[in-house]
Amino acid sequence: MYNKLNERIISNLKNIVGENNVIVEAGKIIDYSHDEFSLSEISRMPEAVIKPLNSFEISEIMKLATKEKIPVVARGGATGLCGGCVPLYGGIVISLEKMNRIIEIDEKNLMTTVEAGVSLKEFYSALEDRKLFFPPHPGEESATIGGVISTNAGGARAVKYGTIRNFLRGIEVVCADGKIIKPGGKLIKDSTGYSLLHLFAGSEGTLGIVTQATLSVLPEPEDSMTLLVPYETVNDALNTAPFILKLPARPLAIEFIGKRVISIAENYCGTSWPSVKGEFFLMIMLDGTRLEIEKHCEKIAEICLSSGACDVFVADSREKQKKILHVRSLVYEALKSSTIEILDVTLPPDQMASHIAFVEELSHKHNVWLPTYGHAGDGNLHTHIMKTTIDGRPIEKWKEIYKKIRDEIILDGIRRGGKISGEHGIGMVKKEYLEMCLGQDYVGILKKIKKTLDPLFILNPGKIFDPDLDGNNAVPGAEG
Ligand SMILES: Cc1cc2nc3c(=O)[nH]c(=O)nc-3n(C[C@H](O)[C@H](O)[C@H](O)COP(=O)(O)OP(=O)(O)OC[C@H]3O[C@@H](n4cnc5c(N)ncnc54)[C@H](O)[C@@H]3O)c2cc1C
Repeated sequence: MYNKLNERIISNLKNIVGENNVIVEAGKIIDYSHDEFSLSEISRMPEAVIKPLNSFEISEIMKLATKEKIPVVARGGATGLCGGCVPLYGGIVISLEKMNRIIEIDEKNLMTTVEAGVSLKEFYSALEDRKLFFPPHPGEESATIGGVISTNAGGARAVKYGTIRNFLRGIEVVCADGKIIKPGGKLIKDSTGYSLLHLFAGSEGTLGIVTQATLSVLPEPEDSMTLLVPYETVNDALNTAPFILKLPARPLAIEFIGKRVISIAENYCGTSWPSVKGEFFLMIMLDGTRLEIEKHCEKIAEICLSSGACDVFVADSREKQKKILHVRSLVYEALKSSTIEILDVTLPPDQMASHIAFVEELSHKHNVWLPTYGHAGDGNLHTHIMKTTIDGRPIEKWKEIYKKIRDEIILDGIRRGGKISGEHGIGMVKKEYLEMCLGQDYVGILKKIKKTLDPLFILNPGKIFDPDLDGNNAVPGAEG
């Protein structure tokens, strides 16, 4: 279906981006064959990795790829958790790593324009220098702006501020045929036609390559505080969240997590968690003025204690808050070596407790450890499917049961009105559930959009949908 790169095409690529920015040596491109998804068998070698310096070069690459029918995969920080930037059909990986300029921090409009390869770490740090704040915080700061837009990333702070989409004002995109378009702008309001801006957000590099973005920012909050609240039961912990959300001011984040997972993260990072009581914790983060936060904190503590909490630990200094966040943010790394996959089912918030009870039952049925934690304030849960039994012994034949467990968890999520991904995206590992989740008619429309924007199916093929392997340039299911 696709052509392979040959000497002539590679020479054309070198003419576009310069010899040093075309990498073809196997030893150097192997790092570009995978993302953070734990299973090594999903990795695929690209035929070349290209490191363009600007949108014009990407446009020329796309014109060449269209002419020669070569697949192209955009790659940011490769922190994705569903194989999104894996070059499933070989071809070209466009790494945005050299497009990492912060073009403008416009303090008058409270907007900033950056190239797609800027990492979150660089972005947060540049804003901090100006006392500005970008609320979305997907956990891994080596992710790039292009990557977080393309997955519509979320993170803990989505409870108060929403996902990346809420802050996205404008983008520059290179289309499959090399055309450069600029949906949105430095605008708060925009009802000018269909919103391509929000279509590209979350499109996982399958509709175009994001090269620049304009994002809203906020003034840095005056202060912050974290409450760590231990409970004996997961139900008590989760049932507290709706009462907190009914208060006039919203917390920045309401995370929940079990003690066993926290102990593993504590051992992994050598930092201790401040509470020894309870089996489950709510971690509630607040921002605002000191006065607002103190008032808010008092009310939340009352609600927690009357909803079954054993205690309320208040981290009011930056140092104490950092310590808690440090342990929480290393949970994924601490569990990673025994994790097969981390899921990110999203549910109506009132369905979280019963979904977790279902997962717990499944865990006992198959004797597989399925630690589940996540964003108690917005219904987005992370279940790790582990290669270990409940008591931590390795499971030799995990491949035999992994798929069954995953199917059951995902089906339960869908049955409860949920969806298969709240923030990580579909990538290559969740596409089999897309139709079951969205329905045939809905997916048919998505395929028609794909066919319109990428008729040759060269942009990140095998992600979200599979290409038609029999050829005919068709996107399967988009004919009607
Ligand atoms: C420890 C850890 C914690 C995490 N926590 C969270 C969390 O709390 N919330 C959350 O949402 N995610 C989380 N993630 C997942 C991950 O960080 C996000 O999916 C992130 O958005 C990926 O960004 P990236 O730059 O690494 O993209 P990549 O992994 O490189 O790519 C992701 C997808 O975007 C596409 N893409 C990348 N750049 C572009 C571009 N310029 N144009 C078009 N398409 C592009 C790729 O083709 C791919 O489909 C976590 C990951 C880790 C490892």
